[in-house]
Amino acid sequence: MRRTKIADIIRTEPIGTELLVKGWVKAFRNNQFIALNDGSTPHNMQVVVDFEQLDPAQLERIRFGAAIGARGTLVESQGKGQKVEIKAAEIVIYGDCNPEEYPLQPKKQTLEYLREIAHLRFRTNTFGAVFRVRHTLAYAIHKFFNDRGFYYQHTPIITASDAEGAGEMFRVTTLPIENVPRTDAGEVDFDQDFFRRSTNLTVSGQLEAELAALALGEVYTFGPTFRAENSNTTRHLAEFWMIEPEVAFADLDDNMNLAEDMLQYVIRYALEHCADDLKILEDRLTEEEKSKPQDQRTMPLIEKLRFVTDNSFERLTYTEAIDILKNSNPNKKGKFQYPVEGWGTDLQSEHERYLVEKHFKKPVILTNYPAAIKAFYMRQDDPKEGVPGPTVSAMDILFPGIGEIVGGSQREERYERLVGRMQEMHIPEKELYWYLDTRKFGSCPHAGFGLGFERLVQFVTGMTNIRDVIAFPRFPGNAEF
Ligand code: ATP
Ligand code: MN
Repeated sequence: MRRTKIADIIRTEPIGTELLVKGWVKAFRNNQFIALNDGSTPHNMQVVVDFEQLDPAQLERIRFGAAIGARGTLVESQGKGQKVEIKAAEIVIYGDCNPEEYPLQPKKQTLEYLREIAHLRFRTNTFGAVFRVRHTLAYAIHKFFNDRGFYYQHTPIITASDAEGAGEMFRVTTLPIENVPRTDAGEVDFDQDFFRRSTNLTVSGQLEAELAALALGEVYTFGPTFRAENSNTTRHLAEFWMIEPEVAFADLDDNMNLAEDMLQYVIRYALEHCADDLKILEDRLTEEEKSKPQDQRTMPLIEKLRFVTDNSFERLTYTEAIDILKNSNPNKKGKFQYPVEGWGTDLQSEHERYLVEKHFKKPVILTNYPAAIKAFYMRQDDPKEGVPGPTVSAMDILFPGIGEIVGGSQREERYERLVGRMQEMHIPEKELYWYLDTRKFGSCPHAGFGLGFERLVQFVTGMTNIRDVIAFPRFPGNAEF
């Protein structure tokens, strides 16, 4: 007999049919009622056993965490809490679970503790919901781009270019670290390394995605990226997944429209397809926030998501944002840790959060940042009255509770301008000859952005720490599992 998934049973309710379900025991009451979960849905299926018919030795083995199968008939439930249940004719035990040794307990355990047993935390209601939502968001992203004619590109994980400057890189080498070969000059002899040159894990697939966009038109990448930055925050990982669309013949406005459409589409998709999981996550967040003072609590999760899908994002320039921040109450009263003094400095996360959460109370897109604080490939703006220094066509999207979720720009398509910037920033032209070739041959305006996937999952699930939205987080001092 074939196994039926609980999600399918709940959807179709084939009363009277004989079924086989397989899953893990969530609870066993009165030697009679098993709550069984198989991961296909947050809902458990109630399996009713006739303990008088069952071998006592087998009854003993039906315990929290055990993997079992139950064959029986689907009937309308007599009890409250579920519409249907399975009247079991046969129980099979696949894997026992000794409650004395099992690190998971059928009670609330802290997220910090569960992080230490990340190999088992999938089995909790919270993490079951998180990882179902994570999947759904990944699928929605592919669907969004596919439906619009974008091509999914796989850019390299190992790269030789370390010029991008997006963050510190992890070195990839097969040289023996205990006895590194050296040249006569005393430098590491990369000639003897696997690739005959120094290589790293990628920090971004953008530069390669640009190459593809300048032929295929509209492309995106969705892959792992690595940053050896020593940031122990709730928003940074050393290994995270990034979505990077790149569009030929697009400018900054097109780029903002694409990012806003995409974010609203995928959040709406999750609301439609993960309603039950989101309810679990909403209740979890509300519970977590009970310990916070009233004014620090956020909107209920689902309301917050609807708010983002139903309102357009506020768009303003960096220069306008600086004005707002300079004149803001917290700045005048010295409440910012980093006072906003003048034009040209990078915004701190406290400033971003003020703009999003206090001033505009909705997602914000900041544009036209000072060139000096942005990457070399961003398109140089024409000078504008009232703007103190040179700017680039950059855009950052800021979300409540998260801060920066998207960073992007229109790219510098003019060869001379690009080379000029590279020289200013001491980026070796020789290493990036292939990138510069696109500006020599058939260059065109184009734009793109990077969306940090885990930050999106964080926003949608309401999980406070980014380490709780990726199965096995990598961060300073941790590469367990
Ligand atoms: P931040 O200032 O928050 O460190 P960044 O400016 O370094 O971000 P980008 O280089 O523009 O970020 O990367 C694009 C996107 O990737 C960011 O908007 C963010 O969503 C995500 N991101 C960047 N660094 C990390 C990280 N260490 N862990 C998880 N996501 C990240
Ligand atoms: Mn960073």
